[in-house]
Amino acid sequence: MLEILRRIVQDINATRDLSEALNLIVVEVKAALHTDVCSVYMNDYARGEHVLMATDGLRSGAVGKVRLKFGQGLTGLAASRAEPVNVEDAPAHPAFRYVAVTGEAPFHGFIGVPIIRRRKVLGVLVAQQREQRKYTADEESFLVTLAAQLAGSISQAEIRQGLERLDDNALSGTLFLEGVAGARGLAIGEAVVVFPATTLDRIPDKDIEDPEAEASRFRQAVAAELAELQRLSERMRRLLAAGDQALFDAYAMLLSSDSLVNGTLERIAAGNWAPGALRATVLEYANIFTEMDDPYLRERAADILDLGQRLLDRLQEEQVITRQYPDNTILVGEEISVSQLLDVPLEKLKGLVSVSGTGTSHVALLARGLGIPAVFGIGSLPSGRLNGREIAVDGYTVRVCIQPSPALRQEYLKLIAEEAKLSRGLQHLRDLPAETLDGHRLDLHANSGLFADVAAARNSGVRGVGLYRSELHFFLRDRFPGEEEQTTIYTRVLRIMEPYPVVLRTLDVGGDKPLPYFSINEQNPFLGWRGIRVSLDQPDLFKTQLRAMLRASVVYPNLAILFPMIGSISELREALDLLRCAETELREDGLSVPTPRVGIMVEVPSAVYQIDRLIRMVDFVSIGSNDLTQYLLAVDRNNDRVAKLYDPLHPAVLTAIQQVIKGGRAAGKPVGVCGEMAGDPASALFLMAMGVDSLSMNLGSLLKIKWMIRSVRRTAAREVLAQAMQLDDAAAIRECANTFLDQQGLSELLRVGK
Ligand code: PEP
Ligand code: MG
Repeated sequence: MLEILRRIVQDINATRDLSEALNLIVVEVKAALHTDVCSVYMNDYARGEHVLMATDGLRSGAVGKVRLKFGQGLTGLAASRAEPVNVEDAPAHPAFRYVAVTGEAPFHGFIGVPIIRRRKVLGVLVAQQREQRKYTADEESFLVTLAAQLAGSISQAEIRQGLERLDDNALSGTLFLEGVAGARGLAIGEAVVVFPATTLDRIPDKDIEDPEAEASRFRQAVAAELAELQRLSERMRRLLAAGDQALFDAYAMLLSSDSLVNGTLERIAAGNWAPGALRATVLEYANIFTEMDDPYLRERAADILDLGQRLLDRLQEEQVITRQYPDNTILVGEEISVSQLLDVPLEKLKGLVSVSGTGTSHVALLARGLGIPAVFGIGSLPSGRLNGREIAVDGYTVRVCIQPSPALRQEYLKLIAEEAKLSRGLQHLRDLPAETLDGHRLDLHANSGLFADVAAARNSGVRGVGLYRSELHFFLRDRFPGEEEQTTIYTRVLRIMEPYPVVLRTLDVGGDKPLPYFSINEQNPFLGWRGIRVSLDQPDLFKTQLRAMLRASVVYPNLAILFPMIGSISELREALDLLRCAETELREDGLSVPTPRVGIMVEVPSAVYQIDRLIRMVDFVSIGSNDLTQYLLAVDRNNDRVAKLYDPLHPAVLTAIQQVIKGGRAAGKPVGVCGEMAGDPASALFLMAMGVDSLSMNLGSLLKIKWMIRSVRRTAAREVLAQAMQLDDAAAIRECANTFLDQQGLSELLRVGK
């Protein structure tokens, strides 16, 4: 059964539109269950109906015509209950409803399984049998498993179909796709799709303009591969046993045979790019072999896949060209990497759309730091088919709009202009303090990780960097930067901000931030070797970094050092010992190193409960709400499936933050927040009310937050906080804050959302 399931899902993913996918499902499921009928009904939410979309066994003329009101019949029952309905004798069931046009009178056995994606019922997969038949528990689980898998494939196919509709009539409409928050803001521009060098099964489809040129590119790849195989075969003849060397001959034979090459060429002629056409053809042939009875022939499926991958590598090699980016680039990819982002000239990069990942992934943080609107986690986006299309990225409603209609386009342009106006309108706050109407002040600092954003912050009048993510410099290299190199980097950062403070955080790699040259393969990376744990286990690397920071501070003493991921007293003690050791060494070398301010990030829950002791050992603490939220709520900050559960306004997170602030106050030490919540108006309102001493955020949010703070009274904010703390969940708390902000005349900030 597992094998059949895998095959069906693979087949569906190779189809180009929804109806092809559904037709394939019904045929394959009917055969697998040895039943008389298999059909798929899809929910038409606009009309409140279940529509028969594909069938194998009922009259084909019924497709598209049979429409059951929501809840009607056994199909409706399966959908409304959102669980399988399995009955031996359908006509005897009270919910049964006879539909003449399907010709279903003689059918008795019935099973209907809802197809659900992210809590929404998309449709129902139905099997029927002429005789009375209760489908077995195994069959039922088979259908349930298949339906769960299909949900993803169906929404993919639906989107592919939506794109085709747009192609047929570019003016007819607009396709909206929902994602999870990446970076706020609005942008409109031309999609540039980037692909990682990837495996065959991950290659998406992509439309092309010139099939002739694409076909010739593919033929060249085949010819080059054939020549390579012949060369290999000859060389191996002398070295390997005959059987092993025969593999290359077999590959060459496969390549010379018509099916693989012609199949790909046909798909290219139909408008798909060579890698997509190759993937579809190779998977189709590999499947044929997988199903063969003869074990030897079954094995050949692996050869076909391997050969396919070799051809793909060849096609991708050629693709390594310098890209031309349009002036209004919207970068689109399955999983955009930091280096792909930085490959685009920043003045041309207007927006980001990533199929996977969420707003707290590293690339999202970078986008936010650079003020680039981004939407992540659009799980079912056929990214490959978007190249060159006009796309609007709405980081507020967290949607991507593909080919906006002229009216919508106007609307987006208007909103973008309004936003620019709001930013310009806030410029007069630049040099004013972040002080509430009743005289409560706090510091607003910038988060950073690149020279460019430190300089931008300084030029915008910001008086301090509250979090400098030093690891970004480590990402952009192919090895660990040495002490000299790091000293140059940190000196530059301190110099740009001088005399205002810069909080340099020591290396925080691991988790979602693996270094390309320092592989950490773990089952559970967020609970694994990351942050200070890596630094303490590699004291050589850690001390190099600390020495570089300290050396930079000899000339520019505006340095503070921050340790990430501190989870226990002994970890902090060890880190401090190594810092003291680095200081002593440098002083012994004759350098007059000033003693820096030292702080810890509070982002591991254990630190919240030991705050009273930890804070006595340092000069300040900075709450890392991104990780604190993830660890307190047990919600992976990068997983778009659970992104809805991730919200720093959860009462538990707010309570933890209050506890840390209380600890700070008792010890007379400052407490700041440098996670993303500092730049969110609703959260910042509460943090200010709680009494944090500083908020560090992306430059793009800074004036908005300053405006908010300068527009409210702290006493009023504290009352709202007290009300909010009585509420049950993050959504209600956010609503409470937003209502207050609205009443204060700050509605323009609210579009900013979560
Ligand atoms: C945090 O966890 O809130 C934080 C600021 O650190 P990072 O996002 O870099 O993990
Ligand atoms: Mg963190």
